[in-house]
Amino acid sequence: MERIGFIGLGVMGKPMARNLLKAGYPLVVYNRSRPPVEELAAEGAEPAGSPREVAQRSDVVITMLPDTPEVEQVLAGPDGVFEGGRPGLIVIDMSTIDPMAARRLAAQATERGIVMLDAPVSGGEIGAIQGTLSIMVGGDAAAFRRCLPILQAMGRNIVYMGESGAGQVTKAANQVVVALTIAAISEALVLAAKAGVDPAKVRQALLGGFAGSRVLEVHGQRILERNFRPGFRIRLHHKDLRIALSLGRAVGASLPLTALVHEWLGALVARGHGDLDHAALVTLVEEWAQTQVRPQAAVAARDQEGGPADGRLAAGGGAQRPAAAVVRPRSPEVGGVPEALLRGAGGPSRSLAAVAGGRPRRQHHPALQRPGHLPQQRGGPPGVPRGEAERTQRSFAPGLRPITPSLA
Ligand code: NAD
Repeated sequence: MERIGFIGLGVMGKPMARNLLKAGYPLVVYNRSRPPVEELAAEGAEPAGSPREVAQRSDVVITMLPDTPEVEQVLAGPDGVFEGGRPGLIVIDMSTIDPMAARRLAAQATERGIVMLDAPVSGGEIGAIQGTLSIMVGGDAAAFRRCLPILQAMGRNIVYMGESGAGQVTKAANQVVVALTIAAISEALVLAAKAGVDPAKVRQALLGGFAGSRVLEVHGQRILERNFRPGFRIRLHHKDLRIALSLGRAVGASLPLTALVHEWLGALVARGHGDLDHAALVTLVEEWAQTQVRPQAAVAARDQEGGPADGRLAAGGGAQRPAAAVVRPRSPEVGGVPEALLRGAGGPSRSLAAVAGGRPRRQHHPALQRPGHLPQQRGGPPGVPRGEAERTQRSFAPGLRPITPSLA
């Protein structure tokens, strides 16, 4: 049995390495931080002190790292895999990285007699734990055939895509579909909640029809439960769409929807939410609509528990006050977003905290507002003096009048 080296023991890498151990492969492991190394060492893996050492002690080295720079450093940097690998070593990079970089690294490997496959995965943490990942492989076909049993210990749907970089191109396409689907589901569920229809029932109904998908099943449920623990981190999906856009530019494919959702993800990263699960995309759409996606049953239960909420959101037509849109503070989880995560690198986002339940707000359906009338705003935006805020409001007021298209 091949001796396998595994580098990068995060959300994905650790359970994948564990599955190799379970399949009986001798395993050498390395990670930047020590705890996952020690955890796997307790289960039978051998720890190593550097990527170079991993390569020296392995027949096949697998990397599962965040992004292109980390893979370049671990493979081609000082004390890296290429320095320690002897001719005949096979490197399988299972991270999601730039396809051009994957090709460059494969060429560098070839100069040393090392064979490199790009084999990114889809299926998330659950797929990694259950050993049911989809794996899309590019590179030398003979090396792929030799490594197939190793890949089968981690995944089910394993497809050989073609020459070096083809696996990463496939993964970029995958990430476009997943991101745009989460965005579409976010808009659909926010629309339903704001219109007073139970978003849980909407998800259920859609799952049985043409709009049904695995993303609606898994992330739709995450959204309803406000479970934004990663999973797949927003910053990683932001990176993946950057890769897709850069590939699109290189080959001359225009990807306007991908560009849009890339900006959404970037806005969440800028707010310090890069480590939330990508299902948290919905929080932006919720903020724009000033409502929250919650199953009506959950909201009704909360109402019983705490009595009628002050400042409940009036969603939909305003006269109706559907329970789906009631927002009340919860602690230590704020509306399902763990407070610790709300206090990420960029500090807590007031807007997300408010949408998540930290500050109940009364909503005004646009149809109920007079032309030119602005919703009451106390104190104006943060950092803008009150007088300035009022001037700003006046100067923007005409823009809020409905525009009637003229046929003349
Ligand atoms: P992660 O951030 O949880 O894990 C990355 C691991 O790499 C961490 O343990 C980190 O300590 C380690 N690391 C970083 N730099 C290192 C270095 N220089 N040397 C050694 N170790 C280093 O990320 P993840 O969610 O496991 O994702 C890994 C890759 O898989 C990414 O490319 C991601 O896009 C892709 N992916 C993730 C998922 C998912 O659902 N999480 C799904 C499919 C693909």
